[in-house]
Amino acid sequence: MAEILAAGEALERALALLQGGDIVAIPTETVYGLAGDATNGIGVARIFEAKGRPRFNPLIAHVAGMDMAERIAVFDPLSRRLAQAFWPGPLTLVLPQRPGNGIHPLVTAGLDTIALRMPRGFGGGLIAKLGRPLAAPSANSSGRISATTAQAVAADLGARIKLVVDGGATPVGLESTIVKAEGEKLRLLRPGGIAAEEIEAAVGMGLLRGDAAGVEAPGMLASHYAPDAAVRLNAKTVGEGEALLAFGGQRAEGWRHAAAFRNLSASGDLREAASNLFAYMQELDRSGARTIAVETIPFDGLGEAINDRLSRAAAPRDNTQPTT
Ligand code: AMP
Ligand code: MG
Repeated sequence: MAEILAAGEALERALALLQGGDIVAIPTETVYGLAGDATNGIGVARIFEAKGRPRFNPLIAHVAGMDMAERIAVFDPLSRRLAQAFWPGPLTLVLPQRPGNGIHPLVTAGLDTIALRMPRGFGGGLIAKLGRPLAAPSANSSGRISATTAQAVAADLGARIKLVVDGGATPVGLESTIVKAEGEKLRLLRPGGIAAEEIEAAVGMGLLRGDAAGVEAPGMLASHYAPDAAVRLNAKTVGEGEALLAFGGQRAEGWRHAAAFRNLSASGDLREAASNLFAYMQELDRSGARTIAVETIPFDGLGEAINDRLSRAAAPRDNTQPTT
């Protein structure tokens, strides 16, 4: 069972876990977050595993200061103004990623944008001490409501995580508001802890509502990275000119002739496979192969989310339709 430590005495233990690639439930002003080092793929995979999420939707990366935020993302003037007005606080900004920022692709599900927020309280201090951003969705099993007390986190996830940091009941109790700049306009992607009217007052204009055509519905992004190459699942053989995305110790027939080759996890570890998925898909795609053949990947644990992502990549290409 997870240890529950009061925020005042949990910093060192939380740091040690995060530095070791493990995950920790922490209080923020919105709801409790399930946090992992956003630069560590195994840590991020553990977040999805502990939540039992059936798909890899992009997570919010949490920063300790504007300098860290600017190293990760490219701010337009409007977004910078919002950060100055509302950070630290329950506002998340979706921004273009700065290349080479070290953020693991599993955090953003392979997107070239990133959702960023600067939290108040324990999380802010922890991130500053760690010196790296934390990826943190709400600390609840997939499909359950967000936890606003350490006890609720422990009751739900206690068997799957080592530490819950107890900061008392979260003051806001709602997830963050998510906003994205689109040219000179701002779009509200998710209502949350800061009222849209407050944001509108701060910038002196109305927010666009709803999803623009072809733009992601939060959590089920149709604009997710899709490879240029065709994707063929459950491959037992490798055809002429095909790249191979392998898993485990048994190879598809003809694998030595593959145009390019990556193994998600030679030892068959689904956590390792999840952490390699987006980078390897992109690398095989860049090889110029016409098709990426993918070996069979089991459906247990993180395998469900891996198979979900791969089947989206293999589906007919019509990125104007949100996927469900
Ligand atoms: P959670 O961390 O569970 O509060 O969920 C994060 C929310 O942010 C989800 O609804 C995501 O779809 C959304 N999100 C994260 N990154 C992006 C992004 N790059 N673009 C659009 N939405 C995002
Ligand atoms: Mg949630």
